[in-house]
Amino acid sequence: MSSLSAFDTLMTITNRPPLIMTRGEGSWLFDSDGNRYLDFIQGWAVNSLGHAPQAVVDALAYQASRLISPSPAFYNDRSIRLADLLTANSCFDRVFFANSGAEANEGAIKLARKWGAVHKQNAFEIITMINGFHGRTLATMSASGKPHWQELFEPKVPGFVKVPLGDLDAVTATIGERTVAIMLEPVQGEAGVIPAGTEFLQGLRNLADEHGILLILDEVQTGMGRLGSLFAYQQAGIEPDIMTLGKGIGGGVPLAALLAKEAVCCFAPGDQGGTYNGNPLMAAVGCAVLEELLRPGFLEHVREMGERLAAGLRTLSARHGLGEVRGTGLLLALAVPEGNADSVAEAARDQGLIINATRPDTLRFMPALNVTADEVDGCLAILDRVCSIRRAPDQ
Ligand SMILES: *Cc1c(COP(=O)(O)O)cnc(C)c1O
Repeated sequence: MSSLSAFDTLMTITNRPPLIMTRGEGSWLFDSDGNRYLDFIQGWAVNSLGHAPQAVVDALAYQASRLISPSPAFYNDRSIRLADLLTANSCFDRVFFANSGAEANEGAIKLARKWGAVHKQNAFEIITMINGFHGRTLATMSASGKPHWQELFEPKVPGFVKVPLGDLDAVTATIGERTVAIMLEPVQGEAGVIPAGTEFLQGLRNLADEHGILLILDEVQTGMGRLGSLFAYQQAGIEPDIMTLGKGIGGGVPLAALLAKEAVCCFAPGDQGGTYNGNPLMAAVGCAVLEELLRPGFLEHVREMGERLAAGLRTLSARHGLGEVRGTGLLLALAVPEGNADSVAEAARDQGLIINATRPDTLRFMPALNVTADEVDGCLAILDRVCSIRRAPDQ
């Protein structure tokens, strides 16, 4: 076992295996003992181009030698370039950059409340979804619908009303004078890859239009090519008023974004900010990542690999008597018997495959978007072996 000293100087915030990761390359992660793992978590769906991709390495090295931070009081060329690229390739007009998904969502909540104050008689309430996940700041925890967060860190930030995902009648019944927005993930990621569904998203768009309120999509996990299109809203054939990005946009570095239509952009100077917002080092990486995603054939590859992995998981599920396969593109989940997910993920890690047990009955797969067919097949082969061992009578 590697040196354990680090384990008692870091605050305990989650249960981690006694491994220390030291190096990554593409779909592979290496620990301090030299073991290698096929990584289908990829920094929690953040390494969109895999570990240490050349495009990100080059962007970081070049920008680090050029300009790291002129302060947020000045424009810088990299954040302008990234905002131009994002707006040219989406339905949005303006961008605010942040450092994490939670911070981008916090900004979305503030923007909606400001819009309510300016345009809707101080309406401030935001309708969010049960089991939704929007981050770990106090406001984004308050917006999230994780059941076991309900009693944590009370009192929460008020102004969030939760409804069941997919229940358009419940949303309709909840809209009132104080309602300013509806906020949700197009696919609930942390909850176990639960799609909101095209019909629901279109219904929400119509409701928002009818009542003159905003639709906010949290695409921190689904955006930046993860579902095989640049953004998930495009697959639903709707346009949100506000969208947040995180995770994949930074290809592994802390970068996030809040995007909005012109009509919604009502921050006055001083309302929003942050020391690192739009810093050129991270923005340069965002440009490099987005330029890769926009290359001809890149998103098609995501869709192909997603279909290959989903088909393989369905075969595996049938062979081993497991549950349904959910998700789109390279955000996929496999249902396993209740309570088994953690031990399957652990057994897989022992066999050199890293996957996430997002719920006691759900395994989640979020490989690099440029994962190869061989690597997808490798993941399936290891998982098949793990399931076979677990089913053997003497185990
Ligand atoms: C990960 C995630 C967040 C939080 O992002 P952080 O960068 O961890 O703050 C918010 N929303 C969704 C949908 C996420 O998946």
